[in-house]
Amino acid sequence: MSTSQLPWPSSALLPAGWAGVRRLLGRCLELHAAGALPGTLMVVGAPGLGREAFALELAAALVCREAGAAGCPCASCERVRRGVHPDVEVVAVAADKAQISIEQAHAVVANIAQLPYEGRRRVVIVADGHTPPLGADAASALLKTLEEPPAHATFLLLAGNPRRVLPTIVSRSVELRIPPPAADELAALVAAVQRCSGGRAAELVTAADGDAELALRDGGDTLPERARAIEELAAAALAGDGLALLRTAAALADAPGGAGLAVAALLRLAARTGGDGAEAFLDAAAALLAADARRAVLHLDLESVAVGALAQAAARR
Ligand SMILES: [Zn+2]
Repeated sequence: MSTSQLPWPSSALLPAGWAGVRRLLGRCLELHAAGALPGTLMVVGAPGLGREAFALELAAALVCREAGAAGCPCASCERVRRGVHPDVEVVAVAADKAQISIEQAHAVVANIAQLPYEGRRRVVIVADGHTPPLGADAASALLKTLEEPPAHATFLLLAGNPRRVLPTIVSRSVELRIPPPAADELAALVAAVQRCSGGRAAELVTAADGDAELALRDGGDTLPERARAIEELAAAALAGDGLALLRTAAALADAPGGAGLAVAALLRLAARTGGDGAEAFLDAAAALLAADARRAVLHLDLESVAVGALAQAAARR
């Protein structure tokens, strides 16, 4: 079995088994059988949480000359899943570039006009339909083809947030939202990505407050320990320990999800403490949220805004 040529880690294919993804796929294949599947679809979902798996399975089924059904194990479908089928092109940013180039867009337009080599259709998957990395020039080179793809072709544009996709592209595509995974499906994905047991994965998801992207990120495998450490440090900081305050801020700057993790820790402390003590933790959480919002706009670093917010809350106690 040759290695994958896809621009995604192999874990991106796991959601193909998720019930919601399979249902959506089934509906699209019904539409296709009725000749009613739109030629350009925008597949909306977070990276690694089903949009890639859905696009590949749909592409495989559209191209397949065997069953043409979800999960088909034929050689053609397997090649689509490895990114080596000549009729399925995945367009992604080149390793040494920041954007999908206008040359890539021109190549897509030229290739899509050709009839399928061996499958029933040709499919182009644009790995990121946001602008950037889909540059405005590259996007406008694609517009005419997206508006009216050849009868033998289907376009699948992947995006996390349609508001970051050029309106000219949004207006030419039909939006499909990837349904969120069930808790056990998400835990199984987290276990595969973070290489841990199912029980540990469930713990990671809880520590991330249900934020799947946070649990899947680098460093997500240490979330429960980081959350506990931040909780202890924040409690000491708000009790007036200046060193703990500095260490809380440093731990936040270093944690995946940063401020979110600390806000969750402060809310847990508030819930446990109750009474007047709770108020200080709630104040600190609010101050941190406000500081984090300012930080994002003003490009300040999290460590210094966290020091400010926590010191303010500690002084009010
Ligand atoms: Zn097949």
